[in-house]
Amino acid sequence: MNIENLLRDNIKTIKAYSSARDEYKDASADMVFIDANENPFQTNINRYPDPQQSKVKERLSNIKGVKTSQILLGNGSDEVLDLVFRAFCEPSRDNVITLPPTYGMYSVLADLNAVKIQSVVLDDNFEPKVNEILKMQDEFSKLLFLCSPNNPTANSFNSNKVEALLKGFNGIVVIDEAYIDFSNSDSWISRLNEFPNLIVTQTLSKAYGLAGIRLGICYASEYIISILNKIKPPYNVNQLTQDKALERLNELGQVIQEVNSILEQRTILANALSNVSFVQKIYPSDANFLLVKVDDANQRYLQLIKRGVVVRNRTTQPLCENCLRFTVGTAEENQLLIEILNQL
Ligand SMILES: *Cc1c(COP(=O)(O)O)cnc(C)c1O
Repeated sequence: MNIENLLRDNIKTIKAYSSARDEYKDASADMVFIDANENPFQTNINRYPDPQQSKVKERLSNIKGVKTSQILLGNGSDEVLDLVFRAFCEPSRDNVITLPPTYGMYSVLADLNAVKIQSVVLDDNFEPKVNEILKMQDEFSKLLFLCSPNNPTANSFNSNKVEALLKGFNGIVVIDEAYIDFSNSDSWISRLNEFPNLIVTQTLSKAYGLAGIRLGICYASEYIISILNKIKPPYNVNQLTQDKALERLNELGQVIQEVNSILEQRTILANALSNVSFVQKIYPSDANFLLVKVDDANQRYLQLIKRGVVVRNRTTQPLCENCLRFTVGTAEENQLLIEILNQL
């Protein structure tokens, strides 16, 4: 498979912006830096950040066992996904395939980039319909989005089906692993070198507890990463984010403890929900949320809002009629939710 053939024509020949900090990287070194029109007085952040975020990447490389040359960081996964659109999808010509019900940003980014969306709804077990997907692709199908574990259905996709899609799809397969740290399944990053058309995205927004700093991670082949590097805004990850991310990645014990607590609470919450009179179904979860079918999602949603609890109403999504999505909170928050539900 030749990935270069999938690129947009303007991207094939594009030249990256060369920033001052690309030429001489370490502004903290013992040199005089008068190359970037910065204010010379110290605030700790008066210098432009490292455009390659080398320290964060090295730490991630150690943790994940992926080379730094196979990692790209962005201002949230949302920026990473947008870069992927801009690299591969010719506006008003190409299309991407999504599998509803799923994360809303894929279609928002497609619209933003004037790229058509082909949808193949998941089957009744919330698994991809492999044959239909492969039949639907055409010569302009550039991206296939697999969200696993999937938001809002909470399941991980069967790995044989994912593998069949990686082998059968003629474009790039983007596996969004925003919830992988809550999952029993292995990350697809261990298979990167087998599949030249594989892009895996992860984020510090969920398990790592850093939604506020906006740090998304993209793992792919060196070639794909080199392309995305050329087109990303040079200083897309700010210094405060880089510092905070590194700090958190150096206290993995704390992260693991929090994830374990959330998983424990997920079980407790699911058990308690199964005793609520109007709860009809609790779907198995491989993530930090539960998809729950109730008698009347719109009514229950409003009742909860009145009592100060905000949940996500997914009832308009395909296969999610009368479903609410509950994020697993702290023990106290979950307790409160259960008490309120039982009072309704
Ligand atoms: C929350 C979420 C993300 C995270 O996006 P960021 O921009 O990194 O915060 C990505 N994908 C899915 C499916 C999500 O639910």
